[in-house]
Amino acid sequence: MLKQYNCIICGHVSNQPFCHGCMSKAKQYYETILEFIKVNPDATVMEIYNSTSVPLGVIRGIIQMGWMEQSN
Ligand SMILES: [Zn+2]
Repeated sequence: MLKQYNCIICGHVSNQPFCHGCMSKAKQYYETILEFIKVNPDATVMEIYNSTSVPLGVIRGIIQMGWMEQSN
């Protein structure tokens, strides 16, 4: 059974943390986070949030999407 989410950015019901329409925006946020992580590999979620001004819920959603696990 698919898990139901409300899109973190627009609130629409979706089967993932970001709906289809907000995916490109989420990727932009992800790029911003990725740039920060490159320079600060040990940064916590709070440090990412404070330094990039990406909304906390979006950061958590990106982690839920598994995008952060690609960088090691
Ligand atoms: Zn959305």
